[in-house]
Amino acid sequence: MGLTANSTGGGAVDRGLHIEKSTPDERVVALAGNPNVGKSTVFNELTGLNQHTGNWPGKTVTNAQGRCLHNQTPYILVDIPGTYSLMAHSAEEEVARDFLCFGGPDAVVVVCDATCLERNMNLVLQTLEITDRAVVCVNLMDEARRKGVRVNLEQLSENLGVPVVGASARSGKGLQELMTEVEAVASGRRECRPARVRYLPVVEEAIRLLEPAVAAKLGGRLNSRWVCLRLLDSDEALRETMTEHLGFSLWTDPEISVKIEQAKNGLLDHGVTEDRLKDILVSCVILRAEEVCMDAVACGKNGYSRRDRKIDRVLTGRWTGIPLMLLLLVVVFWITITGANYPSELLSGGLFWVGDRLADLFEWAGAPAWLEGALVDGVYRVLAWVVSVMLPPMAIFFPLFTLLEDAGYLPRVAFNLDKCFHKAHACGKQALTMAMGFGCNAAGVVGCRIIDSPRERLIATLTNNFVPCNGRFAPPHKGKQNGCRVLTRKKKRLNSP
Ligand code: GDP
Repeated sequence: MGLTANSTGGGAVDRGLHIEKSTPDERVVALAGNPNVGKSTVFNELTGLNQHTGNWPGKTVTNAQGRCLHNQTPYILVDIPGTYSLMAHSAEEEVARDFLCFGGPDAVVVVCDATCLERNMNLVLQTLEITDRAVVCVNLMDEARRKGVRVNLEQLSENLGVPVVGASARSGKGLQELMTEVEAVASGRRECRPARVRYLPVVEEAIRLLEPAVAAKLGGRLNSRWVCLRLLDSDEALRETMTEHLGFSLWTDPEISVKIEQAKNGLLDHGVTEDRLKDILVSCVILRAEEVCMDAVACGKNGYSRRDRKIDRVLTGRWTGIPLMLLLLVVVFWITITGANYPSELLSGGLFWVGDRLADLFEWAGAPAWLEGALVDGVYRVLAWVVSVMLPPMAIFFPLFTLLEDAGYLPRVAFNLDKCFHKAHACGKQALTMAMGFGCNAAGVVGCRIIDSPRERLIATLTNNFVPCNGRFAPPHKGKQNGCRVLTRKKKRLNSP
């Protein structure tokens, strides 16, 4: 491939924003994309590294960096966290957006999943609102072919106004072509004219009112249209970061704050409140994504998406969604609790037999009773009990939970319960962390990281403790027998001369 690589030192990473170039001609390329589109695979194939910028609970949200050489030009590839949007509702979205805005990339590659391009266009269009220098990498082309999805790459490129390259990153296909396009865009040889999302006339009017003053202040450092939208939708998280990076605050600038006030009043005159504006912005991006894909993506096997929709209608239906969910959860718990009894009995039988032998050993050696009590009863037997009671249900519950997740059922559970949780001022995603809590409260609490709002995250963290985890399930009856056996042994020992 003509690509070589090495990894950067940790010192170069300051929340992933600061990139230390070893030579001035090194070009910085950001890799953006939805989760699970093969972004890390593209990164690893190009850099020869083995990184994964994850956004699973417990993983630090940051950017991974690696180097590669293409046509004698050195590149620093920055794998930014996978996100569905850049509206900064979560730590991942904030890190990704901040890098695109302030990390100074020479080009951005947006990796997409060819099997569900329309959904991926949301991020592509939002990225194109921030930067002109973008290349779209339509990955998983092999998977799309298998599913009968045909992607017209030229048409898509025409619709988006930026280069589009097809790839199958797992086998390295298309990555050479991707880097060639990246080179053209990063060097400025290829000029992009990205498709912009057109918002409702009332929003466009507000942008028109604000943009001249904002553009004059920014001096070309950021896309003024995008900044105007963020000023209008009062993005608080961006406010701080932008002030820090620009060295001044747009929000407190007298001229701009007057314009913001005027623009917001104009929106309010048309009944567009801040919340409604957010909805409008999202809907316009989704509509544009649909338009972009309309003539560029065709599904050969019509039955494929139709079957998916039918399944969705049943699993998330008004009358079927909740009963099916309850039934499935009952089945999962029944398998977990009943199934765990057998390995639990075996484990406790074996471990307590070893405990008895240990106790015999202490007696034979004439060890004082307090030592035997502390080591055999206090340490060994308690540990044996915990292992035999907790390990089997966990070993059954978590694989079942993973199966449901892989089958795509868990997001549907969150969807089904979203309304109920909202009524309790909590978030639908809490359903997932609560279900996880049935396996282990610690895992459930750590999982609460997926909830964006700090208030809802706190509610989920605190209430997770009320979910009876495996450790609090009734122990198998053999455990009680073992407990009795310990007491009988103790009594015998106390009665013996
Ligand atoms: P990320 O979350 O976007 O970084 O996605 P990963 O790079 O972790 O990839 C997600 C899954 O997709 C992994 O199992 C990859 O092996 C698989 N994958 C990545 N690229 C391709 C591809 O081109 N074809 C196929 N069939 N699978 C791929």
